[in-house]
Amino acid sequence: MVVVMAADATEEDADNVVSLVREAGGEAFVSRSVSRTIIGLSGDIDNLATLNLPAQPGVCDVVRISVPYKLVSREHRRERSVIRVGGVPIGPDTLTVIAGPCAVETPEQTLQSALMAKAAGASLLRGGAYKPRSSPYAFQGLGEKGLQILADVRAETGLPIVTEVVDPSDVDLVATYADMLQVGTRNMQNFPLLQAVGGAGKPVMLKRGMSATIEEWLMAAEYIAQRGNLDIVLCERGIRTFEKATRNTLDISAVPVAQRLSHLPVIVDPSHSGGRRDLVLPLSRAAIAVGADGIIVDVHPHPETALCDGPQALIESDLRELASVALHLSPLVGRTLTPAPAPAMA
Ligand code: PEP
Ligand code: MN
Repeated sequence: MVVVMAADATEEDADNVVSLVREAGGEAFVSRSVSRTIIGLSGDIDNLATLNLPAQPGVCDVVRISVPYKLVSREHRRERSVIRVGGVPIGPDTLTVIAGPCAVETPEQTLQSALMAKAAGASLLRGGAYKPRSSPYAFQGLGEKGLQILADVRAETGLPIVTEVVDPSDVDLVATYADMLQVGTRNMQNFPLLQAVGGAGKPVMLKRGMSATIEEWLMAAEYIAQRGNLDIVLCERGIRTFEKATRNTLDISAVPVAQRLSHLPVIVDPSHSGGRRDLVLPLSRAAIAVGADGIIVDVHPHPETALCDGPQALIESDLRELASVALHLSPLVGRTLTPAPAPAMA
Protein backbone atom coordinates (compact mmCIF):
# COMPACT_ATOMS: atom_id res chain seq x y z
CA MET A 1 0.00 0.00 0.00
CA VAL A 2 1.32 3.44 -0.88
CA VAL A 3 0.11 6.72 0.64
CA VAL A 4 0.57 9.76 -1.59
CA MET A 5 0.58 13.00 0.42
CA ALA A 6 -0.92 16.18 -1.03
CA ALA A 7 1.48 18.78 -2.40
CA ASP A 8 0.59 21.12 0.51
CA ALA A 9 0.76 18.44 3.22
CA THR A 10 2.89 19.32 6.20
CA GLU A 11 5.61 17.24 7.84
CA GLU A 12 3.23 16.67 10.77
CA ASP A 13 0.65 15.19 8.37
CA ALA A 14 3.20 12.63 7.16
CA ASP A 15 4.32 11.91 10.74
CA ASN A 16 0.69 11.32 11.71
CA VAL A 17 0.33 8.66 8.98
CA VAL A 18 3.57 6.99 10.04
CA SER A 19 2.58 6.81 13.69
CA LEU A 20 -0.94 5.52 12.92
CA VAL A 21 0.56 2.73 10.79
CA ARG A 22 3.21 1.82 13.38
CA GLU A 23 0.63 1.79 16.20
CA ALA A 24 -1.37 -0.67 14.09
CA GLY A 25 1.65 -2.97 13.85
CA GLY A 26 2.67 -2.02 10.30
CA GLU A 27 5.79 -0.41 8.87
CA ALA A 28 5.99 2.92 7.06
CA PHE A 29 8.79 4.11 4.79
CA VAL A 30 8.80 7.80 3.91
CA SER A 31 10.21 9.07 0.58
CA ARG A 32 10.38 12.83 0.14
CA SER A 33 10.89 14.51 -3.23
CA VAL A 34 10.86 18.24 -3.95
CA SER A 35 7.14 18.38 -4.62
CA ARG A 36 5.68 15.28 -2.97
CA THR A 37 5.96 12.90 -0.04
CA ILE A 38 5.14 9.27 -0.61
CA ILE A 39 4.85 6.71 2.20
CA GLY A 40 5.22 3.01 1.44
CA LEU A 41 3.40 0.72 3.90
CA SER A 42 3.83 -2.92 4.72
CA GLY A 43 1.96 -5.14 7.14
CA ASP A 44 -1.47 -6.69 7.38
CA ILE A 45 -3.44 -4.93 4.63
CA ASP A 46 -6.82 -5.61 6.25
CA ASN A 47 -5.57 -4.09 9.47
CA LEU A 48 -4.17 -1.04 7.68
CA ALA A 49 -7.45 -0.62 5.81
CA THR A 50 -9.21 0.04 9.14
CA LEU A 51 -7.08 3.15 9.72
CA ASN A 52 -9.11 5.15 7.21
CA LEU A 53 -5.94 6.65 5.77
CA PRO A 54 -7.66 8.48 2.85
CA ALA A 55 -9.43 10.65 5.45
CA GLN A 56 -6.28 11.65 7.34
CA PRO A 57 -5.11 15.27 7.02
CA GLY A 58 -2.79 15.88 4.06
CA VAL A 59 -3.45 12.51 2.39
CA CYS A 60 -4.08 12.84 -1.34
CA ASP A 61 -4.41 9.17 -2.33
CA VAL A 62 -4.00 5.65 -1.00
CA VAL A 63 -3.03 3.09 -3.61
CA ARG A 64 -3.29 -0.63 -2.95
CA ILE A 65 -0.50 -2.61 -4.53
CA SER A 66 -1.78 -6.07 -3.68
CA VAL A 67 -5.24 -7.10 -4.87
CA PRO A 68 -8.30 -6.80 -2.58
CA TYR A 69 -9.21 -10.43 -3.25
CA LYS A 70 -6.83 -13.13 -2.15
CA LEU A 71 -8.20 -16.66 -2.31
CA VAL A 72 -9.35 -16.34 -5.92
CA SER A 73 -6.21 -14.52 -7.07
CA ARG A 74 -3.32 -16.01 -8.97
CA GLU A 75 -1.06 -14.78 -6.20
CA HIS A 76 -2.80 -17.35 -4.01
CA ARG A 77 -2.70 -20.12 -6.61
CA ARG A 78 -0.50 -19.87 -9.71
CA GLU A 79 -1.99 -22.76 -11.70
CA ARG A 80 -5.39 -22.28 -13.26
CA SER A 81 -8.09 -24.29 -11.49
CA VAL A 82 -10.25 -27.07 -12.89
CA ILE A 83 -13.76 -27.11 -11.42
CA ARG A 84 -15.77 -30.33 -11.66
CA VAL A 85 -19.54 -30.16 -11.99
CA GLY A 86 -21.10 -33.59 -11.53
CA GLY A 87 -17.81 -34.97 -12.86
CA VAL A 88 -17.69 -32.61 -15.87
CA PRO A 89 -14.51 -30.48 -15.91
CA ILE A 90 -14.34 -26.75 -16.57
CA GLY A 91 -10.76 -25.56 -16.85
CA PRO A 92 -7.80 -24.63 -19.01
CA ASP A 93 -7.49 -27.84 -21.07
CA THR A 94 -11.09 -28.23 -22.08
CA LEU A 95 -13.92 -26.32 -23.68
CA THR A 96 -17.16 -27.00 -21.84
CA VAL A 97 -20.47 -26.14 -23.43
CA ILE A 98 -23.44 -25.55 -21.15
CA ALA A 99 -26.80 -25.25 -22.90
CA GLY A 100 -30.48 -25.37 -22.13
CA PRO A 101 -33.57 -23.23 -21.84
CA CYS A 102 -33.49 -19.87 -20.12
CA ALA A 103 -36.34 -21.08 -17.90
CA VAL A 104 -37.78 -24.48 -17.06
CA GLU A 105 -41.38 -24.34 -18.32
CA THR A 106 -42.65 -27.91 -18.72
CA PRO A 107 -41.16 -31.42 -18.50
CA GLU A 108 -41.45 -31.80 -22.30
CA GLN A 109 -39.84 -28.42 -23.06
CA THR A 110 -37.00 -29.15 -20.64
CA LEU A 111 -36.32 -32.63 -22.01
CA GLN A 112 -36.45 -31.38 -25.60
CA SER A 113 -34.07 -28.56 -24.67
CA ALA A 114 -31.69 -31.03 -23.03
CA LEU A 115 -31.62 -33.14 -26.18
CA MET A 116 -30.97 -29.96 -28.17
CA ALA A 117 -28.17 -29.11 -25.73
CA LYS A 118 -26.56 -32.50 -26.35
CA ALA A 119 -26.85 -32.00 -30.11
CA ALA A 120 -25.05 -28.66 -29.67
CA GLY A 121 -22.10 -30.39 -27.97
CA ALA A 122 -23.09 -29.56 -24.39
CA SER A 123 -21.99 -31.59 -21.39
CA LEU A 124 -24.02 -29.61 -18.83
CA LEU A 125 -27.68 -28.55 -18.86
CA ARG A 126 -28.74 -25.06 -17.85
CA GLY A 127 -32.27 -23.98 -16.92
CA GLY A 128 -33.78 -21.58 -14.40
CA ALA A 129 -36.43 -22.63 -11.90
CA TYR A 130 -36.07 -19.36 -9.99
CA LYS A 131 -35.91 -16.44 -12.41
CA PRO A 132 -34.67 -12.99 -11.36
CA ARG A 133 -36.86 -10.98 -13.74
CA SER A 134 -36.51 -7.23 -14.20
CA SER A 135 -40.31 -6.94 -14.29
CA PRO A 136 -42.35 -8.26 -11.37
CA TYR A 137 -45.08 -9.16 -13.90
CA ALA A 138 -42.80 -11.46 -15.92
CA PHE A 139 -42.66 -15.26 -15.42
CA GLN A 140 -40.80 -15.87 -12.17
CA GLY A 141 -40.05 -19.57 -12.68
CA LEU A 142 -41.64 -22.79 -11.46
CA GLY A 143 -39.68 -22.93 -8.20
CA GLU A 144 -39.22 -26.39 -6.67
CA LYS A 145 -41.42 -27.98 -9.34
CA GLY A 146 -38.89 -26.74 -11.88
CA LEU A 147 -36.02 -28.23 -9.88
CA GLN A 148 -37.78 -31.60 -9.90
CA ILE A 149 -38.20 -31.38 -13.68
CA LEU A 150 -34.48 -30.66 -14.03
CA ALA A 151 -33.63 -33.65 -11.82
CA ASP A 152 -35.86 -35.91 -13.93
CA VAL A 153 -34.24 -34.68 -17.14
CA ARG A 154 -30.78 -35.21 -15.64
CA ALA A 155 -31.74 -38.80 -14.82
CA GLU A 156 -32.89 -39.34 -18.38
CA THR A 157 -30.07 -37.60 -20.25
CA GLY A 158 -27.10 -37.86 -17.86
CA LEU A 159 -26.49 -34.09 -18.09
CA PRO A 160 -25.59 -32.48 -14.73
CA ILE A 161 -27.61 -29.34 -14.07
CA VAL A 162 -26.71 -25.69 -13.58
CA THR A 163 -29.53 -23.63 -12.11
CA GLU A 164 -29.93 -20.22 -10.57
CA VAL A 165 -30.68 -19.34 -6.98
CA VAL A 166 -31.88 -15.84 -6.17
CA ASP A 167 -32.77 -15.95 -2.48
CA PRO A 168 -30.35 -16.94 0.31
CA SER A 169 -33.19 -18.85 2.01
CA ASP A 170 -33.57 -21.11 -1.07
CA VAL A 171 -29.89 -22.05 -1.32
CA ASP A 172 -30.12 -25.31 0.65
CA LEU A 173 -33.15 -26.45 -1.32
CA VAL A 174 -31.66 -25.59 -4.72
CA ALA A 175 -28.38 -27.24 -3.70
CA THR A 176 -30.15 -30.54 -3.06
CA TYR A 177 -31.14 -30.67 -6.75
CA ALA A 178 -28.41 -28.74 -8.57
CA ASP A 179 -24.93 -29.85 -9.61
CA MET A 180 -23.92 -26.19 -9.89
CA LEU A 181 -25.55 -23.09 -8.41
CA GLN A 182 -25.80 -20.03 -10.63
CA VAL A 183 -25.64 -16.51 -9.23
CA GLY A 184 -26.98 -14.15 -11.88
CA THR A 185 -25.85 -10.72 -12.98
CA ARG A 186 -28.50 -8.97 -10.85
CA ASN A 187 -27.27 -10.69 -7.71
CA MET A 188 -23.52 -10.43 -8.16
CA GLN A 189 -23.29 -8.11 -5.19
CA ASN A 190 -26.00 -9.76 -3.09
CA PHE A 191 -23.51 -10.49 -0.32
CA PRO A 192 -25.78 -12.66 1.89
CA LEU A 193 -26.51 -14.80 -1.21
CA LEU A 194 -22.79 -15.07 -2.03
CA GLN A 195 -22.06 -16.17 1.52
CA ALA A 196 -24.91 -18.69 1.45
CA VAL A 197 -23.73 -20.31 -1.80
CA GLY A 198 -20.21 -20.29 -0.35
CA GLY A 199 -21.44 -22.63 2.35
CA ALA A 200 -23.68 -24.82 0.19
CA GLY A 201 -21.10 -27.44 -0.79
CA LYS A 202 -21.81 -27.16 -4.54
CA PRO A 203 -19.82 -25.47 -7.34
CA VAL A 204 -20.98 -21.96 -8.17
CA MET A 205 -21.18 -20.10 -11.46
CA LEU A 206 -20.87 -16.38 -10.74
CA LYS A 207 -22.06 -14.13 -13.51
CA ARG A 208 -20.51 -10.70 -13.81
CA GLY A 209 -22.79 -7.91 -12.68
CA MET A 210 -23.89 -5.96 -15.75
CA SER A 211 -22.43 -2.79 -14.23
CA ALA A 212 -19.58 -4.36 -12.30
CA THR A 213 -15.88 -3.88 -12.89
CA ILE A 214 -13.69 -6.96 -13.15
CA GLU A 215 -12.27 -6.15 -9.72
CA GLU A 216 -15.77 -6.01 -8.17
CA TRP A 217 -16.57 -9.34 -9.84
CA LEU A 218 -13.48 -10.93 -8.32
CA MET A 219 -14.28 -9.47 -4.90
CA ALA A 220 -17.75 -11.02 -5.21
CA ALA A 221 -16.08 -14.36 -5.95
CA GLU A 222 -13.92 -13.81 -2.86
CA TYR A 223 -17.09 -13.68 -0.71
CA ILE A 224 -17.89 -17.21 -1.90
CA ALA A 225 -14.31 -18.43 -1.48
CA GLN A 226 -14.07 -16.95 2.00
CA ARG A 227 -16.85 -19.31 3.12
CA GLY A 228 -14.69 -22.25 2.12
CA ASN A 229 -15.89 -22.84 -1.43
CA LEU A 230 -13.25 -22.38 -4.13
CA ASP A 231 -15.28 -24.27 -6.75
CA ILE A 232 -16.25 -21.12 -8.61
CA VAL A 233 -16.58 -20.47 -12.33
CA LEU A 234 -16.74 -16.87 -13.52
CA CYS A 235 -19.12 -16.02 -16.36
CA GLU A 236 -18.81 -12.91 -18.52
CA ARG A 237 -22.33 -12.14 -19.76
CA GLY A 238 -22.09 -8.63 -21.15
CA ILE A 239 -22.06 -5.25 -19.51
CA ARG A 240 -24.15 -2.09 -19.82
CA THR A 241 -22.71 0.45 -22.21
CA PHE A 242 -24.12 3.27 -24.34
CA GLU A 243 -24.65 0.77 -27.19
CA LYS A 244 -28.27 -0.17 -27.81
CA ALA A 245 -27.88 -2.49 -30.81
CA THR A 246 -27.22 -5.40 -28.48
CA ARG A 247 -28.85 -6.28 -25.16
CA ASN A 248 -25.50 -5.87 -23.42
CA THR A 249 -21.96 -5.41 -24.70
CA LEU A 250 -19.91 -8.60 -24.48
CA ASP A 251 -16.67 -7.56 -22.81
CA ILE A 252 -14.47 -10.07 -24.56
CA SER A 253 -11.31 -8.66 -23.00
CA ALA A 254 -12.68 -9.55 -19.56
CA VAL A 255 -11.87 -13.19 -20.32
CA PRO A 256 -8.06 -12.93 -20.54
CA VAL A 257 -7.98 -10.16 -17.94
CA ALA A 258 -9.91 -12.22 -15.35
CA GLN A 259 -7.86 -15.31 -16.20
CA ARG A 260 -4.67 -13.40 -15.58
CA LEU A 261 -5.88 -12.03 -12.23
CA SER A 262 -7.64 -15.16 -10.99
CA HIS A 263 -7.01 -18.90 -11.17
CA LEU A 264 -10.75 -19.53 -11.61
CA PRO A 265 -12.16 -20.68 -14.96
CA VAL A 266 -13.90 -18.01 -17.04
CA ILE A 267 -16.77 -18.83 -19.38
CA VAL A 268 -18.87 -16.62 -21.67
CA ASP A 269 -22.63 -16.29 -22.11
CA PRO A 270 -23.15 -15.15 -25.72
CA SER A 271 -26.95 -15.43 -25.37
CA HIS A 272 -27.58 -12.93 -22.57
CA SER A 273 -24.88 -10.56 -23.83
CA GLY A 274 -26.02 -10.32 -27.45
CA GLY A 275 -29.68 -10.93 -26.67
CA ARG A 276 -30.23 -12.00 -30.30
CA ARG A 277 -30.14 -15.47 -31.86
CA ASP A 278 -28.09 -14.31 -34.87
CA LEU A 279 -25.27 -13.12 -32.59
CA VAL A 280 -24.88 -16.29 -30.55
CA LEU A 281 -22.68 -18.15 -33.04
CA PRO A 282 -20.35 -15.23 -33.86
CA LEU A 283 -19.95 -14.40 -30.17
CA SER A 284 -19.35 -18.07 -29.35
CA ARG A 285 -16.53 -18.17 -31.91
CA ALA A 286 -15.07 -15.01 -30.38
CA ALA A 287 -15.32 -16.46 -26.87
CA ILE A 288 -13.54 -19.66 -27.83
CA ALA A 289 -10.87 -17.79 -29.77
CA VAL A 290 -10.15 -15.43 -26.88
CA GLY A 291 -9.56 -18.39 -24.57
CA ALA A 292 -12.79 -18.88 -22.65
CA ASP A 293 -12.98 -22.12 -20.69
CA GLY A 294 -16.54 -22.65 -21.82
CA ILE A 295 -19.73 -21.10 -23.12
CA ILE A 296 -23.28 -21.13 -21.78
CA VAL A 297 -25.98 -20.87 -24.40
CA ASP A 298 -29.79 -20.66 -24.41
CA VAL A 299 -31.70 -23.16 -26.59
CA HIS A 300 -35.48 -23.65 -26.87
CA PRO A 301 -37.64 -25.99 -28.96
CA HIS A 302 -40.25 -23.25 -29.53
CA PRO A 303 -38.72 -19.82 -28.86
CA GLU A 304 -41.83 -18.10 -30.23
CA THR A 305 -43.76 -19.31 -27.18
CA ALA A 306 -40.88 -19.21 -24.66
CA LEU A 307 -41.78 -17.65 -21.32
CA CYS A 308 -38.36 -16.00 -21.08
CA ASP A 309 -35.70 -14.81 -23.52
CA GLY A 310 -37.10 -16.47 -26.67
CA PRO A 311 -35.37 -14.06 -29.12
CA GLN A 312 -31.91 -15.20 -28.05
CA ALA A 313 -32.56 -18.95 -27.91
CA LEU A 314 -30.91 -21.13 -30.54
CA ILE A 315 -33.25 -23.36 -32.52
CA GLU A 316 -32.84 -26.87 -33.92
CA SER A 317 -31.22 -25.69 -37.15
CA ASP A 318 -28.46 -23.81 -35.27
CA LEU A 319 -27.28 -26.72 -33.17
CA ARG A 320 -25.15 -28.56 -35.68
CA GLU A 321 -23.16 -25.41 -36.39
CA LEU A 322 -22.59 -24.68 -32.70
CA ALA A 323 -21.42 -28.26 -32.16
CA SER A 324 -19.07 -27.95 -35.12
CA VAL A 325 -17.70 -24.59 -33.94
CA ALA A 326 -17.04 -26.00 -30.46
CA LEU A 327 -15.48 -29.21 -31.76
CA HIS A 328 -13.28 -27.68 -34.44
CA LEU A 329 -12.14 -24.51 -32.71
CA SER A 330 -11.20 -26.24 -29.45
CA PRO A 331 -8.00 -27.92 -30.74
CA LEU A 332 -6.93 -24.64 -32.36
CA VAL A 333 -6.79 -23.10 -28.88
CA GLY A 334 -5.18 -26.13 -27.24
CA ARG A 335 -8.36 -27.61 -25.76
CA THR A 336 -10.60 -30.60 -26.18
CA LEU A 337 -14.37 -30.36 -26.21
CA THR A 338 -15.70 -31.81 -22.95
CA PRO A 339 -17.84 -34.84 -23.78
CA ALA A 340 -21.31 -35.29 -22.31
CA PRO A 341 -21.46 -37.89 -19.53
CA ALA A 342 -23.40 -41.04 -20.35
CA PRO A 343 -26.81 -41.40 -18.65
CA ALA A 344 -26.74 -43.68 -15.63
CA MET A 345 -28.07 -47.18 -16.36
CA ALA A 346 -31.67 -47.59 -15.23
C1 PEP B 1 -29.81 -16.52 -17.03
O1 PEP B 1 -28.73 -17.08 -17.28
O2 PEP B 1 -30.90 -17.09 -17.12
C2 PEP B 1 -29.81 -15.12 -16.61
C3 PEP B 1 -30.87 -14.56 -16.02
O3 PEP B 1 -28.68 -14.50 -16.91
P1 PEP B 1 -28.11 -13.08 -16.40
O4 PEP B 1 -28.08 -13.18 -14.92
O5 PEP B 1 -26.75 -13.05 -17.03
O6 PEP B 1 -29.02 -12.04 -16.95
MN1 MN C 1 -32.40 -15.60 -19.64
